[in-house]
Amino acid sequence: MRTLTDMSSTLPAQTQMRLECPLSSWLGDTGCCQWCNETITDPRRRSWCSKRCAVSWDREHVWRYARSSAKRKADYRCQRPGCASPRRDCEVNHIEPRNGGGYLPGCHNHARPDKSGIGGLEVLCHAHHVEVTSAQATSRAASRRAQKLQTR
Ligand SMILES: [Zn+2]
Ligand SMILES: [Zn+2]
Ligand SMILES: [Zn+2]
Repeated sequence: MRTLTDMSSTLPAQTQMRLECPLSSWLGDTGCCQWCNETITDPRRRSWCSKRCAVSWDREHVWRYARSSAKRKADYRCQRPGCASPRRDCEVNHIEPRNGGGYLPGCHNHARPDKSGIGGLEVLCHAHHVEVTSAQATSRAASRRAQKLQTR
């Protein structure tokens, strides 16, 4: 019997991602839902057993769905304790900095970080979001400077 790790080098990136996703129950069998691992009975469906599972996947992985779901869950308010920004002044931040990683679908768009600390979103007002992203930029610049000094 071949294990998933043997197969993984030949799998398309998207399949690989669905297999490795800690939120997905899929064990890798074709014909099983790639979210809940139930057998797919609807002949028009290939990856998901139901609309519900398709939506669940999108909500945790596709940026525009993940973003609107995070805002809705936070009731369109900044999640920093005591923040007085008005409702709907809200933006969604990746807790783990993307560092230019882009907005492709992936486990970095999970609503909450998984055990390995990957992913996780937080809803912030514009002011708090700027604060977070500029602090990240400062620490990136500092580590670049440190690297330069080492290689000199
Ligand atoms: Zn399913
Ligand atoms: Zn995932
Ligand atoms: Zn705020």
